[in-house]
Amino acid sequence: MNKVMIVTGGSRGIGAAISKTAAAEGYAVAINYHTRADDADNIVWEINEQGGIAQAIKADVSDPVQVKTLFEEVKSKLGVPSAVINNAGTTGRICRIDEVDAETMNRVIGINTMGALYCSQEAIKLMSAKHGGDGGSIVTVSSIAARLGSPGEYVWYAASKAAVDAMTVGLAKEVGGEDIRVNAVSPGIIDTEIHASGGEPGRIDRIAPAIPMQRAGIAQEIANAVLWLCSDQASYCNGAILDCSGGR
Ligand code: NAP
Repeated sequence: MNKVMIVTGGSRGIGAAISKTAAAEGYAVAINYHTRADDADNIVWEINEQGGIAQAIKADVSDPVQVKTLFEEVKSKLGVPSAVINNAGTTGRICRIDEVDAETMNRVIGINTMGALYCSQEAIKLMSAKHGGDGGSIVTVSSIAARLGSPGEYVWYAASKAAVDAMTVGLAKEVGGEDIRVNAVSPGIIDTEIHASGGEPGRIDRIAPAIPMQRAGIAQEIANAVLWLCSDQASYCNGAILDCSGGR
């Protein structure tokens, strides 16, 4: 089977760690990004320096037309994917539900939920044995927000992640007999730019004391879980939602 992985939002944070780890494990990696081409190009450069294969590809995952083009481009440049990682995500600014606008909620659900649905659709069309594909693995980066609910921070984000958990369970059952495993990793608080983007750069310091392990995670710890779920070591994991949250 081709070792080709698509990582949405592979340009920064958790996605960048997934991309670099995948390349080190022998995947040719399609690094999807939306706005920050320089960051994506830097990850490609790092991977190439280590002798790996990577391509940066721009696409807004909340747009089904751009997602289709992304998958076509990956197929022609690197080959049919054997692993698709739904990682692109955003929170919107931290606030209460009565302070957030509809545009923000739509954008978060558009990227986190609809993006994962669109990418999973295209992945299944290419990978499913039903469509003549060689099978593969879909892993979605969810969040423990799906069960904590994120009160006072971003309830809409928590809802967008609960939806991808349901998608994971449903798709695992729908295509489990077609050589595709569908799983999710649910990070707790991880040290990336997402907290500053949400308007609270100090969020980690505020929350860390309440985490059983007393610290935030790092992107590599999530990448390790994602790569494990894609590997043959996880050959009987399908429909799993794996918490990586320091016990939170
Ligand atoms: P991050 O550092 O803010 O990076 C976000 C990534 O998503 C970037 O590569 C960004 O691309 C990409 N992206 C955003 N909107 C996009 C769109 N419309 N189309 C394609 N790509 C888009 O975030 P992170 O912390 O690494 O988060 C990665 C995933 O983990 C997200 O799904 C997030 O919800 C989840 N997660 C994170 C934490 C945490 O504490 N960090 C906890 C739980 C779950 P550009 O660089 O081009 O903007």
